[in-house]
Amino acid sequence: MTSPVSFDDVLLKLKEEEAFHMDTLFELIRQRSISAQNIGVEACADLLQSMMEDAGIDTQQLATEGFPVVYGEVIHPDNDLTILFYGHYDVQPPEPLELWDTDPFEPTIRNGKIYGRGTGDNKGQLIAHVLAVKALLDLHGRLPVNVKFLFEGEEEKGSIHLAPFAQAHQELLKADIAYTADGPMEGKDQPSVTLGNRGLLYIELNAQGAVRDNHSGNKGNIAPNPAMALINLIRTMVDESGNVLIEGFYDDILVPTDEEIEHIRSLPFDPVATAAVIGVDAIDLSAEAYYRKLSLSPTFNIAGFGSGYTGEGTKTIIPSQATVKIDMRLAADQHPEKIFQAILEHVERFESDCTIAVDYLGGVKPSRTPLHLDIVQKVIESVQLSHNKMPVVLPALGGTGPMYIFTDILGIPSLTIPYANVDEDNHAPNENMGVSEYLAGIKTTCAAILHLGEQI
Ligand SMILES: [Zn+2]
Repeated sequence: MTSPVSFDDVLLKLKEEEAFHMDTLFELIRQRSISAQNIGVEACADLLQSMMEDAGIDTQQLATEGFPVVYGEVIHPDNDLTILFYGHYDVQPPEPLELWDTDPFEPTIRNGKIYGRGTGDNKGQLIAHVLAVKALLDLHGRLPVNVKFLFEGEEEKGSIHLAPFAQAHQELLKADIAYTADGPMEGKDQPSVTLGNRGLLYIELNAQGAVRDNHSGNKGNIAPNPAMALINLIRTMVDESGNVLIEGFYDDILVPTDEEIEHIRSLPFDPVATAAVIGVDAIDLSAEAYYRKLSLSPTFNIAGFGSGYTGEGTKTIIPSQATVKIDMRLAADQHPEKIFQAILEHVERFESDCTIAVDYLGGVKPSRTPLHLDIVQKVIESVQLSHNKMPVVLPALGGTGPMYIFTDILGIPSLTIPYANVDEDNHAPNENMGVSEYLAGIKTTCAAILHLGEQI
């Protein structure tokens, strides 16, 4: 760019455009795009494409096995850096409708918040990138970095076709960093930057004893008990402290650097408030232990266990069948298929008088981006510039997301910077996004583009 950009000029421009920014989001919310129910998704892709084209973004729809990806770019040959903005234009089903105070697809402002399905998750956050680019192009005619947009229509269905899409379009999606605005901020006016997320392996174990339930007296000590078999098996998989005993389970885990440990020690952690959120009396952990357990370590969790009689009173049987569902959150560099293989071998070696079957119910790879990268530091600085406040930087979300697509398939760093308010109620009735959070999001994207382009 010829003359440096003044961030004050940008702020003035965003102020002038506020009414347009509100109208654009309202129009996008009015267009239903419920991927789970196949309602309005293609029409929403068309609308989004036309909004992006109006913003000066070169846009096309690209087919997947499911709903299309809306892809856009603004490229200038003199630029060195490329940001890939990821978002999703599909929304959750609005049901139960009777719990909404106003029509989920007729956006309404109350108490400084925009109510409507998809406001926070993810239309208000996704369109913020588009409107930021439009404002900068209107002001200056070009951008100091290249931008690409990957907007999918199936995130609420688990991004089922995104990995093969990214695999097939690696050249098109080539970028220096993936930038996602999704989810809620850490607290009121407290921005955050997240460097990754845990992966997931979900399995089910089914144990079969006799072909029928048996009398626990007449057949006691004789008939096999599948519930006991699963308990015995699980005890060989995990010890009383939660250490996983499956061979090789911890082998691939990325060891955190001293800098990362130093960093998590400095993170804010309020054990009393956290205990209240979880619903327990107290949490006896240091900040370091809390974040190590939450984001740097895997879990082994019984999500459900069923067998025999659990109704009122007594029924003296030896059940014939038992099921346990186990989810494991995976830390950086653990691989769901590899761990599943190790579990198969573990169960194979386990001696039991019951037959035990293992089912794979789902797996997602974890993702982690190193804190020390220059480009990561630049994005953190840009969030600070936009909010006049240092963001909380989290090594990884405890939960699971599709970020491995960026770090593992595209091989680029990936950051998540939530723009929505902490009480956005995404997936629930009365989903909302604060007006000020929405407008601040547009500003934050402007700051990222200008700061990475060394303009501010
Ligand atoms: Zn969602």
